[in-house]
Amino acid sequence: MRKRYIVVAVIGVCALIATIVALAVTLSRRNGGRDGLVVIIGAGIAGASAAAELKRAGQPFVIVEGRSQVGGRMTNTLFANVSVELGANWIHDYTARGELEELASRIDLNGVPTDFSDSAYYSDGSKVSASVEKTKFTNAWSKAIPLANSDDDQTVLQALSKHAGWKPKTEIDCAVMQYTVDYAFGLSARQVSAFHVDLETEILGDEYDSASEYFVKDNRGYNAVVKDVLERAGVNDTSKTGELLMLNSNVTAVEYNGTGARVKLGNGVVLDARAVISTVSLGVLQSNMIQFKPPLQQKKKNALGKMAMGSYTKIYVQFKQPVLTESDPLILLPTNCDRARNVQNLNKEPFFPGSNAVLVTVMGGEGVKGDELGIALTAVNQVVKQKVTREMVAHYVYKNFDEDPFTQGAYSNRLVGFTSDDFDALTAPQQSLYLAGEMLGGQEEYGSVKAAITSGKATAELLMRNI
Ligand SMILES: Cc1cc2nc3c(=O)[nH]c(=O)nc-3n(C[C@H](O)[C@H](O)[C@H](O)COP(=O)(O)OP(=O)(O)OC[C@H]3O[C@@H](n4cnc5c(N)ncnc54)[C@H](O)[C@@H]3O)c2cc1C
Repeated sequence: MRKRYIVVAVIGVCALIATIVALAVTLSRRNGGRDGLVVIIGAGIAGASAAAELKRAGQPFVIVEGRSQVGGRMTNTLFANVSVELGANWIHDYTARGELEELASRIDLNGVPTDFSDSAYYSDGSKVSASVEKTKFTNAWSKAIPLANSDDDQTVLQALSKHAGWKPKTEIDCAVMQYTVDYAFGLSARQVSAFHVDLETEILGDEYDSASEYFVKDNRGYNAVVKDVLERAGVNDTSKTGELLMLNSNVTAVEYNGTGARVKLGNGVVLDARAVISTVSLGVLQSNMIQFKPPLQQKKKNALGKMAMGSYTKIYVQFKQPVLTESDPLILLPTNCDRARNVQNLNKEPFFPGSNAVLVTVMGGEGVKGDELGIALTAVNQVVKQKVTREMVAHYVYKNFDEDPFTQGAYSNRLVGFTSDDFDALTAPQQSLYLAGEMLGGQEEYGSVKAAITSGKATAELLMRNI
């Protein structure tokens, strides 16, 4: 009897030890272990691109995402029976045929070219000629911007004034400037660094190549690209939490040293990691939503202080009757100096003819606070003769990225004084912590889907070289 007890006890202890070991192995696999997983924070396109690279290198990873869905700032919704993009919409520089174009063509992402030169300026609902103002501004821009340099960095407005003697004198001047600067950066010419804007000059030109701006118009949404990248990185189902992806998991703290890291989530879960790649936005980093321990190096903080999130809010409004038609321009620009807004006529080919829809974009400044429909209708009333009222609206949707805790602004900008050293300081790993995302695409590449892809991939490659 006694012997049997001892045997049973030994078997029991062995089983317990086996269970503990198995549990420890499972936990270590799931939670990483100091020499195990890489934790990627954020399931936007930068996080997905980093994951794809780690998968290629055979490095285990898990992505933790605060929201209930993947895609980050690439997000869509159903509106007027079609899918519309609330965040990123265009593949910029489409004719370059780079990685994003390849990803898009892999999944046959539907889209149309955008003719930004199909635009007109309006005052009090009437079209006004802006050809003289456009020519003067374009000449000033072509003269001033190439002279801007990092040693004597200044704002776009200062550079235009200093190098070309140009200042906005009329409301048309202001609108012309806003169409070039605010529409691209979500910040005004009074804020954006002249040294960092040269890539955007084509917006005004009559020789503008419409094929280079691919407007995504796909019922799966632009973020179908993100889902495809994640699936190829091994995430079986991007709509729910699984082994490689944790949704609804907001990171509150990252503790790290030379050998590993510990990532803490708002729900109490703690993940041990070999290294961490953070792809959260500049706005999130500046907000201290995540406590880094030790804190980010001073040179990183200084660099973050020389960047700012732009504000860019899209409000889609569908009217019961057509307000703009096929014969109206694609882009209608209200002339004024205090608010940067424009109205995109979606009720025409190749966009959504028959939809009676417009897209009002609110750039920079205070963004959209409070009465978003009122703000949109005010913009529409500046460009149409027959005034619109709330009663004429069938439906509207919008997303305010400024107030979204997981974004805190639309996309990053570099301000006066940001240099290549700042870029290097941000992209250099701090022990086992790596920063990535659209703000860090390259020395001159930021604020776009392409920049986020470049950064996610490059950061994962750097990490693999270092570990
Ligand atoms: C309105 C708007 C229009 C735009 N238009 C264009 C365009 O036409 N073309 C273009 O190329 N680009 C455009 N952009 C920019 C483009 O969307 C971004 O550059 C790109 O999508 C950023 O990708 P990302 O992966 O770096 O960041 P994100 O997409 O922001 O991904 C980061 C992820 O991290 C998550 N996260 C944040 N904090 C935490 C946390 N604490 N814990 C866990 N997860 C967290 C977020 O939820 C998010 O999913 C636009 C952006 C906006 C907002």
